[in-house]
Amino acid sequence: MTAHFDDLADRILSGGAATEQDALAVLRADDAELMHVVAAAGRLRREHFGNTVKVNYLVNLKSGLCPENCNYCSQALGSKAPILKYSWLSTDDALKQAGAGLRGGATRVCMVSSGRGPSDRDIDKVAAMTEALKGEHPDVEVCACLGLLKDGQAERLKAAGVDAYNHNINTAESHHDNIVQTHTYDDRVETIGKAKSAGLSPCSGLIAGLGESDEQLVEALFALKALDADSIPVNFLMPFDGTPYENTWELTPIRAVKILAMARFVCPDAEIRIAGGREMHLRTLQALGLQVANSIFLGDYLTSEGQDAQADIEMLRDSGFVILGAEDALDPAAEPAETHEHGHEAHHDLAIRHRGAGTEAPANA
Ligand code: SF4
Repeated sequence: MTAHFDDLADRILSGGAATEQDALAVLRADDAELMHVVAAAGRLRREHFGNTVKVNYLVNLKSGLCPENCNYCSQALGSKAPILKYSWLSTDDALKQAGAGLRGGATRVCMVSSGRGPSDRDIDKVAAMTEALKGEHPDVEVCACLGLLKDGQAERLKAAGVDAYNHNINTAESHHDNIVQTHTYDDRVETIGKAKSAGLSPCSGLIAGLGESDEQLVEALFALKALDADSIPVNFLMPFDGTPYENTWELTPIRAVKILAMARFVCPDAEIRIAGGREMHLRTLQALGLQVANSIFLGDYLTSEGQDAQADIEMLRDSGFVILGAEDALDPAAEPAETHEHGHEAHHDLAIRHRGAGTEAPANA
């Protein structure tokens, strides 16, 4: 049985593709086979990305107050999670937050706003922020994540210098209406199409642990493959108190690694990003996850705290990885990332973010 995963990697490396049965076999591999799964998927990771890790940094431009009802989201209508809520950051504040992430080693800044979708004025704001950010940091990659797009908005973002657009499908089409009722799966797919046809790099991913079946996880991954997403954030549900998913714990660290490996087998050359829930679900297997995934978010998430950015960087260094485009940041002689009183060890508890964007406290970057 063990050879199966290596054979699968051989087949993919010589131009073949994983089938849905292969993907299911990865998800259902015996725990004792975990290292074989990782070694085989890791060959694909090394083939396409070597020992690099792409480091991304989130800036939550507008937090909470969303009229949509995504059940998993702490910012949704009806969520009682005690998160930071604020309307648009100023361009200066957005730049300050983005700059902290870039100094911490990130090469891509993800500018995110809550809400169903941007107004044309919102697009103007993000365009101005992008132009200002690129003026200061010409090499930065900017990804916008603003919700459902209307005609012409993707082109406007592209013209302002935005490189990528994120809009997650989140789950399988067959499960979508169980997790949100205020928009459809097709709405989401349509926005990814708009971003793509405007020349923005499509970023779309999923959230595991929403009550989906193995088959639905596979369905979601094959949908992302069909959408040709360049980058695929794999989130693991963070079950905020005060949301419909509070106390929902469906994942184990080993399961999370298998999900990442399955994503790698199905989309071998896509950027597989370990996204929200990395610390609480992969726990001590975070570094193992990076043997198959090749991308992370540095520091904090939109509304919750990640482990210290310094710990993220050390984890990469310990595993022999280098940050894509910012190799100097891993120089042990380089200035350490800012530390501060909110710092704490990797944790299982969900800590609401109280630093960075929307606060006076230093960012975790
Ligand atoms: S995921 Fe986005 S659209 Fe859905 S509730 Fe959260 S902020 Fe609103």
